[in-house]
Amino acid sequence: MLCSKNLFFLFIKIEFFCKLYKILQNISFGMNKSLRFSSLSFAFLFLFSTLFFVSSCKPTQQTGDNTTKKDSTNTTNEFLVPIEESESQFKKDLPEPIWKPKKGSYHATKTKEFDLIHTKLNIKPDWEKQWVYSTATLTVQPHFYDQNKIDLDAKGLAIESIKLLAGSSKNDVTKPLRWDYDGKWLTVRLDREYTKDEKITVEINYIAKPNEAIWTNSVLSNIEEEGFFFINPEGKTKGKPKQIWTQGETSNNSMWFPTFESSNFRGTQEVFVTVADSFQTLSNGKLVSSQKNTDGTRTDYWKMEKPHAPYLTMVAIGEFEIIEDKWRDIPLYYYTEKWHAPYAKDVFGKTPEMMEFYSTYLDYPYPWEKYAQIIVRDYTSGAMENTSASVFMEGLMVDKRSIKDHNWEGIISHELFHQWFGDLMTAESWANLAMNESFADYGEYLWLEHSKGKKDADQNISNEKSSYFREAQAKREPIIRYFYTSENDMFDSHSYAKGAVVLNMLRYHIGDEAFQITLQKYVKANAFKSVELDNLRLIAEEVTGQDLTWFFNQWFMKAGHPELNIDENYQDGTLKMTITQTQDLRYSPIYRLPLEIDVWENGKVTRHKVTLDKAEQIFEFKTESKPELVVFDPSGYLLAQKNEDDKTANEWRLQADYYENYIPKMAALYNLAGSIENDTTFNLLIKVAKNDKFAAYRTQAIRSLGEYNLENIENKEAENFEQNITEIVTLLKEMSISDKDNLTRASAIDIVSQYGAFPKLWKQTLKDSSYFVISNTIYSLINVYGAEALDKIEPLENIEERHVVYALGEYYSVYGIEGKYSWFVKNADRISGSEMSYFLNHFTQYLINQPKDIQKKGIDYLVHQAKTNSFFQTRKDAYQSLTVLKNALDEETKIELEIEQKMNGIKTEEKDRRVTEFQQALGF
Ligand SMILES: [Zn+2]
Repeated sequence: MLCSKNLFFLFIKIEFFCKLYKILQNISFGMNKSLRFSSLSFAFLFLFSTLFFVSSCKPTQQTGDNTTKKDSTNTTNEFLVPIEESESQFKKDLPEPIWKPKKGSYHATKTKEFDLIHTKLNIKPDWEKQWVYSTATLTVQPHFYDQNKIDLDAKGLAIESIKLLAGSSKNDVTKPLRWDYDGKWLTVRLDREYTKDEKITVEINYIAKPNEAIWTNSVLSNIEEEGFFFINPEGKTKGKPKQIWTQGETSNNSMWFPTFESSNFRGTQEVFVTVADSFQTLSNGKLVSSQKNTDGTRTDYWKMEKPHAPYLTMVAIGEFEIIEDKWRDIPLYYYTEKWHAPYAKDVFGKTPEMMEFYSTYLDYPYPWEKYAQIIVRDYTSGAMENTSASVFMEGLMVDKRSIKDHNWEGIISHELFHQWFGDLMTAESWANLAMNESFADYGEYLWLEHSKGKKDADQNISNEKSSYFREAQAKREPIIRYFYTSENDMFDSHSYAKGAVVLNMLRYHIGDEAFQITLQKYVKANAFKSVELDNLRLIAEEVTGQDLTWFFNQWFMKAGHPELNIDENYQDGTLKMTITQTQDLRYSPIYRLPLEIDVWENGKVTRHKVTLDKAEQIFEFKTESKPELVVFDPSGYLLAQKNEDDKTANEWRLQADYYENYIPKMAALYNLAGSIENDTTFNLLIKVAKNDKFAAYRTQAIRSLGEYNLENIENKEAENFEQNITEIVTLLKEMSISDKDNLTRASAIDIVSQYGAFPKLWKQTLKDSSYFVISNTIYSLINVYGAEALDKIEPLENIEERHVVYALGEYYSVYGIEGKYSWFVKNADRISGSEMSYFLNHFTQYLINQPKDIQKKGIDYLVHQAKTNSFFQTRKDAYQSLTVLKNALDEETKIELEIEQKMNGIKTEEKDRRVTEFQQALGF
C-alpha cells in the first residue's frame, strides 16, 4: 500500500506517509529562500528537491581498478581504539535520543487453527442505508489439531443466521449452528469436533454496516477506517460520482465479511456483487459472468482460482469507463471516470512493458488471471495492491499534459511489483511488512533502471535515503519489528524507503547476478506462501555460498544506521584514513561495512576495497604523491551519515569531472555552490547547465549558479560580478524557454526571477506546455507585481490542473482579490479527496478578507460541506475552516452571520465519531 495520510497536499499524496511521503520527503530541500511568495511553490518544489540532504554517495561502478590494492582491515595502529573503549567514549552518560526505539508489545504471527480454503461472498450494497446485505460461505479445514469452533474476525456485522452446509465432511444435511458474537469476534460453534482431514463449509448471513460500526461501536474504537466505503451514496456532494470501494489492509476487510483476518491465511475466492445495471464492478480474479436480474439490477460474478490473503480481497463499484489492454495473453483493464478515459493509457499505458520486465527479471510470469487498475474518489491512501486489482487515488486522474510534468510510473510500478511481493508471497505478519513494501519500493528502482537508466534509478534510491534519514531524526526501529504499538506504525520510511536501500546494498554486496538469481529462487520457492526475512536470507546464502546473517541482522533486525567520522591524513607517501563509527551503540550495532575508497592521483584512480567492522579503524594507502581527491563510497550505495573533512573547491570540481554516476556527481554540483565566485567553478557549472544530457544535473547546476546573486556579498566583490550575473541571467532565460525537461525549465524560471522582473519572458512561459512552468511563472509574477499581477494571471482561471489552481488560490487569498468567490466554489465543487483539505485552506483565507455578503455565502457553503460531504475528512476540514473563520471575524460579524449557531447545527447532525472527536478537540 502507499499511504497518504499525512500529506497535506494531494499530489504528493501518493503512497505516502508511507509512500507518498517519499515524494514529500523531497519537498523540503531545495527551496530558494529569496523568492518565495509564501510557501507556495512547494506544491511542486517537492519535485525538485533532490537529495542532497544526505551526504552519502551512490552506487554505480566507476572503474576502480587494479593498481595496488593496499590494505584492508585490521591495521594495528596506535590510533586504533578498542570497541569497549569507544563505547564508553561515545555512549555513556548521553541523554536518551528522541528517536530511541519504542518497544511496543510483542506481536506473534497468528496461530492457524484452521486453514482458509475458500471464501464465497454474495453482496448487495444498499446505498441509502449504507449497508451491505451479504452472505459469506467459508470453507475451512483444521490446520492440524481437532477443532469444535471457528473464531473469525467480523467487525460490526449484524449476523442473521449461520448454517453448516450439506457436503461438509460427513454431513449430508444442512444444519443451523449457534454462535457467539461481541461485535468484533465471531465464534461459530460447530456440531462436533473436526479433524484435519475434514473440510467444513459454513454459510453466514449478515448485514455489514461499516459506517455505523465505526461511528458508534465502542468495541471498535481503535478502528479508523470502514473497510467498505460508500462515496457520495446519496448524491449530496456536487460533482462527486457515487462509488464504492474497499480497503482491506491492514485489518478492515472484516468490516464487510467474516474471515481469518491475518496475512498468513490464504484461500481462493468468489465474489457475487449485485448492483444497478448502470454501474461497473471490479473484484479480484476473472469476471465469469454478468447476469441481469428481473428487478433491474445486475449480478457480476468474479472468481479467483488461485489463493491469496484475505486483506487483498477487494470490490469497487461505480460508473467507470473501462479501457482494455493486454500483456501476453493476460487482459489488462484501466478503470477511470468517463472524462478521464481518453487519458487512461497516458497514465497506465506502460503497464504491459512493466509486466514484461518484471516477469522476465523474476523469471516468473505475472501470476494472476488479469490485471486491473482503478482510480477512485476520496481514497484514504495512495494506492493498494489488491490481488489482480490495484486501487489508486484520484491524483492519477491527470491529462496528457500533466503526465509530462510527472508520470505516475513510480506508484504504478510499486503496486505492480506487489503482485509478486505481497500478493503471490505475503508477509506472514505485519511485523514482516517490509517483505512486501521494501520490495515494492525496490521494484520502482528496478523499473527506473530498466526504463530510464542507472542515473534515474540512483536518483530514486537517493530520495529513499533522504526519506529514511528524515524519519530517523525522530524514529529508529528495526525494519523487521515484532514489537510495536500499532500495525499502522509499520507503514513508515523504515519498511519502505530504508528497506529498499538495504535491498540495494544487498545487491551491491552480492552482485547483480547473484541478487537477481536470489529473487528468482525466492519467488519460485515461496509462491503462494507466507514469508519472513529468513526465507530471503536462506536463499541468498544458498545462491552465494556465503553466510549473510551479519548483513540481515545489522540492517533488518537492528535499529539505526552507521554514523561515520572520516578523517584523512597524508604524510610521506601514505594516505591514512581514520574511520570511526559514532552511532549510539546503546541502540545500534557496530556495522560490518564492505566498502570502497577511490584515491585519485594525476587523473588516475585506484579503487580500494576495505571492510569496516570496528568502532574505529585506520586504513593506509601508499601513494606516489598527495592525492588530488579521495572519494569514500564512490558508488554511493551505503546508507550512512558521514562526517567528512571539507573538500576544497578544486576537489569538488574534480569530483564533478571524474564522476558521472549520480551520488558523487550530484554531491559535487551541489557543493560547488560554495565556491561560485571562483571562475573555474562558475564556468564548470555553466557548462553542465548548458550541455549535460541528464536533466537533474542541469537543474542542480542552475540551482548552484543561483547562489551567485545580489544578496551574496562575497559575490558582489568579485571582479566580474556584473558580467557573471549577465551570463547567468541570459542562460536562465534561455533555459526557461528551451530546456527540453519540464522540471528544469520550471526551475530556471524560478531561479531567474530572483534577478529581477522579466515580463516578456513570463508572457512566454505562461504559455508553456508544462503546468509546472506555468505555476512557477505565476509565483514569479506575484512576487514582482503583487496585487497588480491580476490581469496577467486571470486568463489562467480555466486551467484545472492542481498546481496552477493552488497558485491562483494562494494569490487570490493572500491579496484578497475581490470577485473570485465563484472561482473558489467552482473548484471546490470539482476537487475531492485529500486535495480538498488543501484547497479549503485557501478558500477560508480568502473569505476572511471578503465583504460580509460573500462571507455569508462562503459560510453556508462550508456548512453544507460539513454536513453533507460523504468523505469524513472533508467534513472535518470544512468544520475546521469554520472554526478559523469564527476566530478571525469580529464579534459583530460573527453574530450577524450566525456562525456559531450554524456550527452547533453541524455538531448536532454529525454521527461519525472520527468527526465528533475532532470537533471536540477544536474546542468550542
Ligand atoms: Zn506498497
